[in-house]
Amino acid sequence: VGEGGEITYKKIQSSQIMGSIQLGIQHAIGGLASKPERDLLMQDFMTVETTNFPHEGSNHTPAHHYSEFKFKTYAPIAFRYFRDLFGIQPDDFLMSMCSAPLRELSNPGASGSIFYLTNDDEFIIKTVQHKEGEFLQKLLPGYYLNLDQNPRTLLPKFFGLYCYQCNSKNVRLVAMNNLLPSSIKLHQKYDLKGSTYKRKANKSERQKTSPTYKDLDFMEHHTEGLFLEADTYNALIKTMQRDCRVLESFKIMDYSLLVGIHNLDEAQREKTEARKRTDSGQSDGDDAEGEPRKGLNRTRSINRQRLVAHSTAMESIQAESEPIDEEEDVPPGGIPARNARGERLLLFLGIIDILQSYRLRKKLEHTWKSMIHDGDTVSVHRPSFYAQRFLDFMAKTVFKKIPSLDLPEIKGNH
Ligand code: ATP
Ligand code: CA
Ligand code: CA
Repeated sequence: VGEGGEITYKKIQSSQIMGSIQLGIQHAIGGLASKPERDLLMQDFMTVETTNFPHEGSNHTPAHHYSEFKFKTYAPIAFRYFRDLFGIQPDDFLMSMCSAPLRELSNPGASGSIFYLTNDDEFIIKTVQHKEGEFLQKLLPGYYLNLDQNPRTLLPKFFGLYCYQCNSKNVRLVAMNNLLPSSIKLHQKYDLKGSTYKRKANKSERQKTSPTYKDLDFMEHHTEGLFLEADTYNALIKTMQRDCRVLESFKIMDYSLLVGIHNLDEAQREKTEARKRTDSGQSDGDDAEGEPRKGLNRTRSINRQRLVAHSTAMESIQAESEPIDEEEDVPPGGIPARNARGERLLLFLGIIDILQSYRLRKKLEHTWKSMIHDGDTVSVHRPSFYAQRFLDFMAKTVFKKIPSLDLPEIKGNH
């Protein structure tokens, strides 16, 4: 946060970054229309297109009132192919990215990245470090070789890599799929790694209206874990195993599973409470902070299909479930689950923050300490150690199978 309360990144006002990147992306997508679709070539992963955006405009850029800037688009043809892989039409991408102002999210991470959400809830734009941007460029061919074979995955899907340059500062940005719906209340949110070293949300995070909690908090809140039907559990764990194998093959670590929990029963109680309060003449609290965002977009984003194909949590793990018909205003695709009290939950989840490669990682004191703490001393095995611990935690501590009612020991007692 800069002076006067304005959010800044590298001393550039966030509102300026948002507006400028929308101009940049609009130009980049528009420019692609003249390039016919064709098979991807290896060199498509290496191209970078640069455009100047002077104040007064130019032959192919509009006039604008932001600071003059340069906009770089990395691997435009390759990313067009990836968007196509996930069924995203150029016009739809343009509409999502550029037709309405972006919304800035508060970031619980320590990295200082800024996150923007598109107004239709489909995409997130995240600022990344130079190293991360470079890593994504190198990762692209191999990564998408994998997504092409297996689009049903919880791995992040990247739809664009850009660099906004202004006053000799570089702001690198990736566009990716948004995992958490903003049209409903997420009663809890967790960023889970399978580590217990310093994995507790700090005080300032806990004071937020919608905090992102960590591993130790999860174990405290859900001592027995989250319960899934056997088929759903198996599909979820299988998907994560497959995804972790890919991450390990790229020596990636430090990723998290992001889990958003909507508690249907709690939501029901909140509704009843709110109704009681209105009936007794008090304000209904609908505008309270932390309430889901309402507006024109709401009904549209809830009832229609997601723009990005196979991108809901249920589609990602290739599972199916009965639609929950009595809750018509809940976005589709959440994974049905129960907490230990038997309350009905919907989980929205995916793997995030994968642009840290072990090879490129800085050897901060924290990481050495956590390595010793976690008992991981053989450094060549670190990415595989990380993946194994991550999977163990998810399969044993976070997610549990609902015991089948058909089991003889349960049946016998009824
Ligand atoms: P770190 O300090 O861990 O490096 P970071 O700045 O790299 O943090 P991430 O770990 O990528 O940030 O994400 C931080 C938070 O942003 C997550 O805990 C989550 O709340 C939100 N977030 C990140 N990616 C997504 C996504 N694809 N969809 C929805 N929310 C996301
Ligand atoms: Ca992270
Ligand atoms: Ca990070």
